[in-house]
Amino acid sequence: MMPTKAASRANIGYYRFSLGKLTALSLHDGTASRDRASGFVRNITEDDISAAFAEIGLPPDKLTLTFTSLALDSPKGLILFDPGWGMRGPPSTGSLIPNLLAAGYEAQDVSTVIISHFHSDHISGLLAADDTPAFPNAQIQVPRREWQYWMGDDPTAPRLGVDQVTGVFGALSERVSQFDWGDELLPGITALQADGHTPDQTAFEIASGGERLIYAADVTNNPLIFARRPDWQPIFDVDGDRARESRHLMLARAARERLLMFFFHAPFPALGHVAAVDGNEYLPALWCQ
Ligand SMILES: [Zn+2]
Repeated sequence: MMPTKAASRANIGYYRFSLGKLTALSLHDGTASRDRASGFVRNITEDDISAAFAEIGLPPDKLTLTFTSLALDSPKGLILFDPGWGMRGPPSTGSLIPNLLAAGYEAQDVSTVIISHFHSDHISGLLAADDTPAFPNAQIQVPRREWQYWMGDDPTAPRLGVDQVTGVFGALSERVSQFDWGDELLPGITALQADGHTPDQTAFEIASGGERLIYAADVTNNPLIFARRPDWQPIFDVDGDRARESRHLMLARAARERLLMFFFHAPFPALGHVAAVDGNEYLPALWCQ
């Protein structure tokens, strides 16, 4: 049996859920899979990495990642965390704005974009294909030391994708404001220390109506693999030891306080919990309609 033409199009990738008094959205930006170069995790063997991917049903010789952003519908407009690749990523990415439209919003509705860190998969979507702002009415909030690290000129600093970063923020610098850990960026949204993956990676605690969620960005890569192996150090972590400490702290807190967690590289809709059973286990949240 053939599906109708409309139904045979790509999946619509948004998920609406409530967080206290807020309506929230998971917005899928896409998936990428490529041959995995050796040494993806610095401190373990290739066989162990392959086994970990195979264990959750992913091709053992590939690096397969998904990208999902979070948006909050607040009284002051839509607040978007990490707008994904936009039009500058692998061909199987760039779905965030189509999914935003499918959910009933427009790019003009975004009043604030909050950035966790400056890796290309998190910031490139700030620009549209023609290099104009993808969210024309949005102010952009970034971690202060992240800006200094990436936009500075230290030639010894490892800065994966720095040309992309300077290209994006060079075009948008007048819209950018900077924050520090501990700041309340907007009512109920607090910046949390989560460094190591990059020098100033920031997570965000979001509280509304007695409910809480932590947007944990890349404290772990895919949490199905890395929550139970917090000592593994993927090459994307700029400071592997510091990232490991942040990961342990965040996972322990998530388990202790039974927090709803949002990891950017978790399987869509990127919501789950962490249970401290035999180490940490990532538990995807149920789809609730
Ligand atoms: Zn990432």
